[in-house]
Amino acid sequence: MNDFIFPPEPTPGVAIAGSRSRFPVHRIYCVGRNYADHVREMGAEPERAPPIFFMKPADAVVANGAAVPYPSATANAHHEIELVVALGGGGRDIKASVALAHVFGYAAGNDLTRRDLQSAARERGQPWDTAKGFDASAPLAAIRPVVQGHVSRGRIWLKVNDVLRQESDIDQMLLDVPSIIAELSRFYELRAGDLIFTGTPAGIGALKVGDRVEGGVEGLETLRHTMAPPAGK
Ligand code: MN
Repeated sequence: MNDFIFPPEPTPGVAIAGSRSRFPVHRIYCVGRNYADHVREMGAEPERAPPIFFMKPADAVVANGAAVPYPSATANAHHEIELVVALGGGGRDIKASVALAHVFGYAAGNDLTRRDLQSAARERGQPWDTAKGFDASAPLAAIRPVVQGHVSRGRIWLKVNDVLRQESDIDQMLLDVPSIIAELSRFYELRAGDLIFTGTPAGIGALKVGDRVEGGVEGLETLRHTMAPPAGK
């Protein structure tokens, strides 16, 4: 099996609370428009703009506490605090009634977004890839295994330089975690190692170099990262 022309990149990993083992990342799925107040702040109506799915590359994960380089090619990088679901199993056409059996654990993550590129893409009817799926776009705290319970409610919040920017409750999600897994599994064969960013509440906003970002979901490890100068500069 040692027939690769050069060594493959290592599998990206995420810390697991209370464990020395790490969670190997297979894919990163994301849900957009999953809180009504955020849909409205983006200028849409929740009834007419149902939740959508998009992806980030697996190696976009950034360990908790790291300095995240300000993304290239944007003048308007935004924070989006989100509940992240880590799958320990998968399949196709998973029923919502059994979907939670596939969850390994939960974490707090930041769906970093090039808002200017997203706005331009929306206007032109173009894909979101460069707005969402860029290098270091998925800072993530440690995953809390489900032995400590599932997450269906609880405060979700984010502060920048100690100022509260986002605050809501997980129970405000339009698609709950079982529904997200069921819906995603219609489009993709889900696998152990998949991460799902489940959408952000209202209060999104711009970040600048030097900012201290702190965010969390009640009961999970708090995510902390700074915004460093752009990579390679
Ligand atoms: Mn998001």
